[in-house]
Amino acid sequence: MRVAINTKLFFTIFVLLKLKIPIVYKYFVPFLFVFLYFLPSKISAQTEKDLKIILITLDGFRWQELFSGADPLLIANKKFVHDTTELKARFWHENAQERREALMPFFWKQASTMGQLHGNRPLGSKVNLTNTLWFSYPGYNEILSGRADDVRINSNDKVDNPNMTVLELVNESPKYKGKVAAFASWDVFPFIVNEKRSGVPVNAGFEKAKGEKLTANEQFLNKLQDQTPSPWSTVRLDAFTHNFALEHLKKEHPQLVYIAYGETDDFAHEGHYDAYLNAAKNTDGLIKELWEFTQNDPFYKDKTIFLITTDHGRGTKPIETWKNHGNEVPGAGGVWLVAFGKGVKTSGEVGGKGQLYSNQIAPTILALLGLSIDSDQMPGAPIELGID
Ligand SMILES: [Zn+2]
Repeated sequence: MRVAINTKLFFTIFVLLKLKIPIVYKYFVPFLFVFLYFLPSKISAQTEKDLKIILITLDGFRWQELFSGADPLLIANKKFVHDTTELKARFWHENAQERREALMPFFWKQASTMGQLHGNRPLGSKVNLTNTLWFSYPGYNEILSGRADDVRINSNDKVDNPNMTVLELVNESPKYKGKVAAFASWDVFPFIVNEKRSGVPVNAGFEKAKGEKLTANEQFLNKLQDQTPSPWSTVRLDAFTHNFALEHLKKEHPQLVYIAYGETDDFAHEGHYDAYLNAAKNTDGLIKELWEFTQNDPFYKDKTIFLITTDHGRGTKPIETWKNHGNEVPGAGGVWLVAFGKGVKTSGEVGGKGQLYSNQIAPTILALLGLSIDSDQMPGAPIELGID
């Protein structure tokens, strides 16, 4: 495209010069040279910035399992596992690298070869929350608004978020208006995103797909969701959240989509380590399906970046604290971040003395989409993903 425009412009100038009309020399030729100088760089900047972003969270999934697979102290613990033999057959290997591949095969066999995994603390890579509360709403507020707000966001109550999230900011920009959407298993997300004020559509909790032209899949999902009791009153099973999101991606092609999976946290609170691991493995497969969809859809193919993280960690010592989080649980402020896709440098598992914070994710999204960042609202620096 750049070459074609240049050729056309050179040809036009050549013709104008040949015509030797005085007024052309005086006004048009200098104008055209100025035009020629600016136009290609502008077009090139626009095409290179045409990124699509899929932001994903796995509620309360620990960095310990992401980087080391099943926990040796929990997988054989009959207090937390219904059938230890069966669970070990699925997830146990002596070697931690084999264990994590068994748990998260997409993350470790594919994502690691096309991106970056931050937060393996034994290797020196840290990702932390800057909020000091270490539970869900404060964590999601920090990820999405780029700023901890411990004074106002200090419960999981269904209170509209006074802060503007990156979803709202992107949706407000003329370029991306109406091209942002969120899907979540937890029914508090319409408040976290402030769906009312932001105008960003949020399908969360037990909401159905809405609208005039529902696809056959959406109609079926609506019916199936009604017929599938969830173990929880405020959180649906992630398969529904995932498939509602996938249908929306196929149909509407949003530029920025947020998907918040929830099962890992709820199974952990209940003390079901087997269900927690099964949910993590299942979510790994859901993310693989999303990635494969984007690479087979011309709108997303080779233009999409995945950013994946969690809203908080969980405890390790004493061992029972794996079930819980909050600022009374040591270590629950330690999280992780995975990024891969278009232009992301393939560093794989990051080591060294890196320190990232969850409040850097929102400004990173704004920077990737070429939007300005108000550093008073978002104090964290955009993360260097190695994109040109
Ligand atoms: Zn929780």
